[in-house]
Amino acid sequence: METHRRPKILIDLEKLNTFGTEGCPACGRIFELGEAVVLACGNWEGQKYVHEDEATFDKDTNSYYDRRYYNDTLR
Ligand SMILES: [Zn+2]
Repeated sequence: METHRRPKILIDLEKLNTFGTEGCPACGRIFELGEAVVLACGNWEGQKYVHEDEATFDKDTNSYYDRRYYNDTLR
């Protein structure tokens, strides 16, 4: 079966208003308009938006993971 990367998501005003104060759980920075994010699993409940370049795509589960979490626990 062919796997497809999920399309990247860009931070828009609506997302910024929704979780802008929460920031990125992977690096702790506040999101900015136009940044590319993906929904990723990590050391948190469910999936959260993290910066795309901090996520690793796992084709076995067809999901993104926080890179640090992925390297530490799933490698
Ligand atoms: Zn980040």
